[in-house]
Amino acid sequence: MTSSLASALQHDQLINALKHYQEIFWYPPETKDCEHGLNGVGLRRADIEDAEQRLTRFAPYLAKVFTELEASHGRIESEMVSIPNMQKHACATLNLPTTGQWWLKKDSHLPISGSIKARGGIYEVLAHAEKLALEAGLLQPDDDYTIFDSAPFRQFFAQHQIAVGSTGNLGLSIGIMSAKLGFRVSVHMSADARQWKKDKLRSLGVNVVEYASDYGVAVKQGRKAAENDPLCFFIDDENSKTLFLGYAVAGLRLKQQLNDHQIKVDAAHPLFVYLPCGVGGGPGGVSFGLKHVFGEHVHCIFAEPTHSPCMLLGVYTGLHDQISVQDIG
Ligand SMILES: *Cc1c(COP(=O)(O)O)cnc(C)c1O
Repeated sequence: MTSSLASALQHDQLINALKHYQEIFWYPPETKDCEHGLNGVGLRRADIEDAEQRLTRFAPYLAKVFTELEASHGRIESEMVSIPNMQKHACATLNLPTTGQWWLKKDSHLPISGSIKARGGIYEVLAHAEKLALEAGLLQPDDDYTIFDSAPFRQFFAQHQIAVGSTGNLGLSIGIMSAKLGFRVSVHMSADARQWKKDKLRSLGVNVVEYASDYGVAVKQGRKAAENDPLCFFIDDENSKTLFLGYAVAGLRLKQQLNDHQIKVDAAHPLFVYLPCGVGGGPGGVSFGLKHVFGEHVHCIFAEPTHSPCMLLGVYTGLHDQISVQDIG
């Protein structure tokens, strides 16, 4: 960061609010219309549909190897539940208008790994496994994918390694899925990762590498370890298009759920979605999917912890990953 920029930021009201951990709402002054915005992403609706189809191909395999997916026939999805009591309470205490209906999309309860990473993370491991198996001639495009649950596939994947840097949830998703397929897998965990997640991964034979520092360092170390090994694939939370597309499938799925609940989304019934945000891939991918489905009628709002507002800082300053929350103290 240049010193002139640093001094400009020092006198900026919003940056000062961030520095003091204040809760704020920021709406970008200039947003592009939906068509323009979507065209600038570099991925298309067909890419989301391709991801959805890949998940469908793997569904019989997933149902076979994870008992908790038997009932859904291998579909990894969460419930959407009405929360009238929370709505009533919040509207009364925060003095909000009582119009509309509040719902909770329970990605916190997604099968296999219990977080939104069960979308992107698991999807990326499956996509990588499919690609390797096709290239090796082990898999033909119209095969029944339950053959992934077999000794020859596990022996093949055991020659390959998967690595990831994580604060916990991504590592859990990637580790569980990779180990199930037979990959060797290393999860580089930052200091804030929960102990039970490390324990669970180790119990599955995952190599958990612990760091005393934050997420950025764990990712960097993971990336470096992978660079030295041509048979090692590094899953990059900050740059992966595959992860992003796995998340984007949620947009198509949500449309179906809203239909099932007979909830209309149109000009007279806009949909507001509040998305918990870390590095931005999860909420970014889900928003990308939702925008393809609902266009101008969906409004996606990213919610970040007051103590790590990296997305807001990056978008607000236009510096994106060239600025860190540490740069503003
Ligand atoms: C990963 C994660 C997010 C946000 O995803 P990012 O891609 O990091 O923005 C939100 N909530 C939970 C619980 C997560 O694990």
